[in-house]
Amino acid sequence: MANTHVALLNASFEPLGKVTFQHAVRMLFREVALVEEQHGDRMIGPHPWPRVIRLVRYVAAHWLYRPAGWSRNGVLLRDRHTCAYCGHHATTVDHVLPLSRGGGSTWLNTVAACASCNHRKANRTPAEARLRLRITPFVPTRAKLAAV
Ligand SMILES: [Zn+2]
Repeated sequence: MANTHVALLNASFEPLGKVTFQHAVRMLFREVALVEEQHGDRMIGPHPWPRVIRLVRYVAAHWLYRPAGWSRNGVLLRDRHTCAYCGHHATTVDHVLPLSRGGGSTWLNTVAACASCNHRKANRTPAEARLRLRITPFVPTRAKLAAV
């Protein structure tokens, strides 16, 4: 249960994404959010067990929906530390089209990769290395990264 996510709504009921259960509970205790939908009859302190929470005060969310700036850590977060080639735990970032061949450090050209796939792929394209991308890279919003 502690690993589940809780949907977060703006004060206007506009969905803002998801927060971790722990984050949601902290927001309830700081009284910045209220439980909008509860999970069964369970309580956590004075609060119903949250499934959906809603901010008490409206937050202008536009900046959250802008594309996040690229970073290695951001790529690992976006891909949930899962290797794009084999599905194992990823700790490195692979350039799909290698930097040495003109590929850029952009959201669409980078994926999380485990050290062994990254080493195996080296300066080759996935096709040349006979590796298949299991995901389609995308440009995440700040909200998306914040919710991981
Ligand atoms: Zn791998």
